[in-house]
Amino acid sequence: MTTPPRPCPLCGSLRNIPIAKHAANHLVRCGDCSLVFTQLDPSVEELVAYYTHYPVRDQLSPVTAKRYDELLDRFEPYRRTGKLIDVGCGAGMFLERAALRGWEVHGTEYGDRAVAACKARGVGIIEGPLDPANYAPGSFDVVCSFEVMEHLAHPKEEMERMLKILRPGGLLYITTPNYACIGHRLSGAEWNVVNYPEHLTYFTPSTLRRMAKSAGLRERWLLTTGMSMVRFRTKRSKDPGVRSNAMADQEALRVRLETAWHLKLAKRTIDGLLDLFGIGDSMKAAFEKPAQ
Ligand SMILES: [Zn+2]
Ligand SMILES: [Zn+2]
Repeated sequence: MTTPPRPCPLCGSLRNIPIAKHAANHLVRCGDCSLVFTQLDPSVEELVAYYTHYPVRDQLSPVTAKRYDELLDRFEPYRRTGKLIDVGCGAGMFLERAALRGWEVHGTEYGDRAVAACKARGVGIIEGPLDPANYAPGSFDVVCSFEVMEHLAHPKEEMERMLKILRPGGLLYITTPNYACIGHRLSGAEWNVVNYPEHLTYFTPSTLRRMAKSAGLRERWLLTTGMSMVRFRTKRSKDPGVRSNAMADQEALRVRLETAWHLKLAKRTIDGLLDLFGIGDSMKAAFEKPAQ
């Protein structure tokens, strides 16, 4: 017996093409818009079982703090209402940084540990999925979400919820893995980003742009950056605990890249090339909601 095709969450097409190398994780590509997604839509029980042991990172490294500050610099021109929300805010580390600059910060996240960590930081958080009814419509200058879209079976609907609370002229900022990255090309079926039921939608620069365009958004920037060592070294481990250890190694490398000028220069050159060809590991995209 075969399961009926799940409609493409971006364009609604039923023309799904199975991706042989990722068959174990149920990946298909839409024959019409090229979005890659899982044919299966996991049940709430499956998701709860999976996320119960999901790690919550709550140590802000100096390198990450610097990256957050650079991003906040880019958000400054959008400040009108002074309100910023992080959808899937984890332990609230980015929001804590934003609050230092006077943003009124809000967040959403799942799980007791994340909620407790946010509360300890004094970050206002609502547990569970984003519900626009909890906020005044069009009230946020910036809506951001780091590494969330790939976890959703219906990312377009999530984007629409985000746009309800974003003010006209405001900024939507999204990061998500790049399915077209060089790491995936090199590791093939072993690419550890592919993992059911953790990741359910896999974007490339072109499908992410298509989703934003379908919602009427204007692109401000879209970068693909980085070649993560973590995703190579832990390619055989999809266990979040093992990945956590590998993240510590990655952090040590980041600190070295930041401090040695020749390494920094090399990294900048490589990042430039990765972005030029759209093959960096991570996409960082900002879209503007048109002013009415
Ligand atoms: Zn499609
Ligand atoms: Zn993820």
